[in-house]
Amino acid sequence: MKIAIVGSGPAGCYLADQLLRLVPGCAIDVIDRLPVPFGLVRYGVAPDHQATKSVSRILDRTLAHKQVNFFGNVEVGRDVTLEQLLSFYDAVALATGAQRDRRLGIPGENLPGVIGSGSFVAWYNGHPDAKIPPIENIKSVVVIGNGNVAIDVARVLAKEPSELAGSDLSHDITQLLAAQPLREIHIVGRRGPADAKFTPHELAELGNLKRAKPFIADPEELEKADATPIVGVLEKFLENGNCQDSNEQRSVSVVFHFYLAPVAFVGYGRLQAVKFRAKDGKEVEIAADLAVTCIGYESLPCCTAKPVDGKFANADGKIDERLYVVGWAKRGPSGVIASSRSDAQLVAKKIAEDVSDGGRRGGEGLREHLQSKNARFLDHTGWKRINDAEVARAGEHRCREKFCSVEEMLEASGKSPS
Ligand code: NAP
Repeated sequence: MKIAIVGSGPAGCYLADQLLRLVPGCAIDVIDRLPVPFGLVRYGVAPDHQATKSVSRILDRTLAHKQVNFFGNVEVGRDVTLEQLLSFYDAVALATGAQRDRRLGIPGENLPGVIGSGSFVAWYNGHPDAKIPPIENIKSVVVIGNGNVAIDVARVLAKEPSELAGSDLSHDITQLLAAQPLREIHIVGRRGPADAKFTPHELAELGNLKRAKPFIADPEELEKADATPIVGVLEKFLENGNCQDSNEQRSVSVVFHFYLAPVAFVGYGRLQAVKFRAKDGKEVEIAADLAVTCIGYESLPCCTAKPVDGKFANADGKIDERLYVVGWAKRGPSGVIASSRSDAQLVAKKIAEDVSDGGRRGGEGLREHLQSKNARFLDHTGWKRINDAEVARAGEHRCREKFCSVEEMLEASGKSPS
C-alpha cells in the first residue's frame, strides 16, 4: 500500500511510525512544504526547551526508515494538487497542524506591536515565513492567555542571554531581546487561577529565572480559588514575596492577572496599552509596547481541503474516501506532543482497516511529476546536510544556528539555485 502524509511534524511522523507497524510492506512518503522536517517541534517548541525538542531524534528515525521517504520543499497546492496525490497514493493523510493565530476580533488588533503567538514563536524559532515583529524599546509586554504558549513567550522574553545558552535561539534574536529595557511582563487570563491551562512544571519554571520574578496582581483571587496544582504554584510565588523590594536583584516583574477579558488594543500609530474588562465590569488598562495573543491556533486549507472552525471535519480521522487527517489539523490545537502519538495510533488503525493496495505508483509517480515541473524537492539525505550545516555553524553558545530562508536551506542541502 502507498501512503502520502502531508506534514512532517510530530503528528505526521508518528502516523508514519504507526503505519509501519500496522500495514506490513507499506511505502510511506512524508511531504513537507519546507526543506526541513518536524514542524511544531522545530518551529513551535520553545528554543530553550531542548529536552522537548530532542523528540526530533525519534521522529527522524522514522523518516530515515527504509520504507519511508521524505519529500521536502514540496507544497501541496503549489507543486502538486491533492487530487494528483490521491491518484498516486492509496491513502493521503493531512498532518498540516494549526498554523494560523486565532484572533480576538477586538479594536486595535492590527496595530504595530500586537502579534499572535504563532507569528511571534515562529519568528524567534527562525521560521522562513516569519515577519520580524517591532521589537524596539520594549519596557512592558502584555501576554494574553493562560496556556503553556503564554508561559513559553513570557519565559523567552524574561530570560537573560546566559539562561539561553545551549538553546537554538539565534545569536541576533538573543542580542535583540537582551537589548530591550524590559521591566514588566503581564500574563493575563480571562478566567480565574484555577481555570488556567498552564501545566505546573512550566509555570514553576517562571519562579527560577535569574532576572525575572513572578508576582500576583490580586492575591485575594488566589485565596478564593479552588486548590489546584496551578494554584499551588502561584501560592508559592506569593510566599516568595509579592512586591519589588529595594534589595530585589531581579529587574523584570512577571505579573499574573486573572478575570480580565481583553476589549481593545490602544495606541496612536503603534500599541501603547491593552484595555481589559474586569469581573465587576470596570475597564482596566495595562501599558504595553508589545502584546502577544496566546489564545490558540487554527488550521489553514490544504489545496482543495478546507477546514471548518479551525480544523478539518472528520469521522475518526477520515475526511473523505482515502483522505485522512491527524494531529492538530484533526482535533484542534490541544495536548502535548505525546498526544499526537495516541491520535496517530487511532488514525493509522482506521487507515489500515479502510484502505487496500490499489497498485498505485506512490513516490515514483510523485517524483516524476515534480521533476516534470522542475520542482526543487529534497530527500532525507538533503535534510541531513542542512542539519549538519546548522549544527556546524552553531558556535559555542547554542546547539544550532538555523537557516532562516528556504534558499539558504536548499543551498545547504546541495540543491542548485533556481
Ligand atoms: P491553550 O492551552 O488552549 O490556552 C489558550 C488560552 O487562551 C486559554 O487561557 C484561553 O482561555 C485563552 N483564550 C482563548 N480565547 C480567548 C479570548 N477570546 N480572550 C482571552 N483569552 C482567550 O493553548 P496554547 O497555550 O496555545 O497551547 C496549545 C497546546 O500546546 C496546549 O495543549 C498546550 O498545553 C500545548 N503546549 C505545551 C507546552 C509544554 O508542554 N511545554 C508548551 C506550549 C504549548 P480559556 O481557558 O478561558 O478559554
